[in-house]
Amino acid sequence: MNLTTYLLAGYPGLVVITSEEARAEAEIASVCDSLNRRLHAWSSSEGFICPKERRVNPCPDPLDALQLVEDVFPPEGEKQVVLLRDFQLHLDQSDPPLIRRLKDILRVAKSGGHALILLGCRLKLPPELEHEFAQVGFNLPDANQLGLVLDGILQSADIKRLSAATREGALQGALGLTTTEAENVFALSVVETKKIDPKVIAREKARTLKRSGLVEVVEASTGLADIGGLDQLKQWLVRRAGAFSASAKAYGLPAPKGLLIVGIPGTGKSLTAKATAGAFGLPLLRLDMGRVFGGIVGQSEANLRSVIQTAEAIAPCVLWIDEIEKGFSGSKSSGSTDGGTSSRVFGSFLSWMQEKEKPVFVVATANDVSKLPPEFLRKGRFDEMFFVDLPDAQERSQIWDIVIARHGRKSTDFDCVALSRACENFTGAEIEAVFVDALHEAFAESREPTEKDILDAASRTVPLAKLMDAQIKALRQWSTGRAREAGKATERQTRGTRHVIQAN
Ligand code: ATP
Repeated sequence: MNLTTYLLAGYPGLVVITSEEARAEAEIASVCDSLNRRLHAWSSSEGFICPKERRVNPCPDPLDALQLVEDVFPPEGEKQVVLLRDFQLHLDQSDPPLIRRLKDILRVAKSGGHALILLGCRLKLPPELEHEFAQVGFNLPDANQLGLVLDGILQSADIKRLSAATREGALQGALGLTTTEAENVFALSVVETKKIDPKVIAREKARTLKRSGLVEVVEASTGLADIGGLDQLKQWLVRRAGAFSASAKAYGLPAPKGLLIVGIPGTGKSLTAKATAGAFGLPLLRLDMGRVFGGIVGQSEANLRSVIQTAEAIAPCVLWIDEIEKGFSGSKSSGSTDGGTSSRVFGSFLSWMQEKEKPVFVVATANDVSKLPPEFLRKGRFDEMFFVDLPDAQERSQIWDIVIARHGRKSTDFDCVALSRACENFTGAEIEAVFVDALHEAFAESREPTEKDILDAASRTVPLAKLMDAQIKALRQWSTGRAREAGKATERQTRGTRHVIQAN
């Protein structure tokens, strides 16, 4: 927390947004101690408290509380800090006298060198106060802070020995959790296994994050070898696989920012996101951008902040944003449709992409680029933009190899070249669906699938490319000159559909 700097600089209004009230308060108290400032706190339930003097003044009303604040802000002399808990709940109701009073007090605070800190898990200030408060960053606990929590659990469970590797595994596994969540997860591991088990911790973290509904940890055992075709994209990933290592850092290499993959559904974009985490050897987080947009005012911004905090706490990691256009498509018309929320969240996301220092590699996938705001596609946001087209004959043959093996059969038992020929214009997902169809047919007759089963299933399939011909052509046209081809583009060039260069 950079609170010390703000207090020394004389900021009268500060905001700390976190759900870790106790940890934040402990940190605020320690900063106040070190700067010799007296700390007071108010909440509607406890009233006005000066913890050091143990003086309590019951005062449930926020307006009365502000009067008490003014009383403890002398025009000169000892500098004071007042912490207001959950004050946003009162501001949400847009109470003009309360807003006015707060502005008056900030003026008093400024002239006396005092400070007012609003503490809560979300905060949407009314426009009258937006520029009066500065937000102080408060990150999730790092491995050292989690280490203290772990020590507490070890002590209370009377566990005396913990190997360095287990300790490291437990702490890494708990990154991304709050101190309370980490404490619960460590305690659960002890109750369940009578020891600290990094596997239990990783499992429980995945569950805890999933419950938040914003990000989930994806356990993917996928590698680049599981992707048929997309050679250029795979090569790009291979060349960046070491870029998160300590030696890359020592070399002075900036951590790659991310990748945008556009293409029609079923061509392996999600598969590539999973394989990226596998190739980089990093944990994979999946973000549901649609869920970021919550119902309560100010919730969407808070949701995005929480996602960024989680990803940065777990970093280095891969953050996969599936169908990103669904989240940001409303940002163009946001002013008239949702009071500007989408465009504000979109703006915050772009600034984070541009400025992020923590190694969070973003893999965003999109089916419909027309819904993406142009600023998103500007150079510098992502390291590279790839377009995934329908697989050509050779790529389809590779996909057949992979799909047959994935379903526990030998690809050498089938003529993958002939199967590829029968599946012209099929996506990888459709090729897989054809094989699954053939498996069902064969299973119903208690036998193994034959090439004929597969060819029959293929002839029953109408590929999406037929139904989406116009959209696919538009996507190819759009990507020309803007995005790199993910595959080889051999057969496609002879189709003659990718050579119309569109002006911006
Ligand atoms: P959507 O936009 O609908 O999410 P997508 O482009 O992300 O589609 P995937 O979900 O990655 O497509 O593909 C669906 C499934 O199809 C994959 O899990 C995989 O089984 C198979 N598949 C697709 N493309 C390939 C490929 N190039 N190589 C191997 N398998 C593939």
